[in-house]
Amino acid sequence: MILKFIKETTCPDCGCKDIYSEKTLRHDPHSSGKWAETRTFVCGKAFSFSPNFNKVIEKGTCIRCKFYINERKRRSIALTKIRGLVSDLKVDEEFKEKLYLMIADIGSCFYISENI
Ligand SMILES: [Zn+2]
Repeated sequence: MILKFIKETTCPDCGCKDIYSEKTLRHDPHSSGKWAETRTFVCGKAFSFSPNFNKVIEKGTCIRCKFYINERKRRSIALTKIRGLVSDLKVDEEFKEKLYLMIADIGSCFYISENI
């Protein structure tokens, strides 16, 4: 697909050129005559053209960038420490199981915000 407003062809973090998806709303243009476009790379980094702001906005998180890899390691270590704390608590096993489930739920939401 040829995008008109998004010129980025590689991820600025890892250099990935593999495109996961591209979308355009050319059929539904903004009052300016321009339309929304999105290009998402396989690594997760994405660019989106906003006709409202008339600019390309960087989105998504490159899962191959050092920041993301390091942040995932820190979060994994934190979850392991919390599991250890729960294990040492002087409470009944049923309550511990509930706490473990809460921790598992946090672990399943391992998406890292761009705002960190
Ligand atoms: Zn990338």
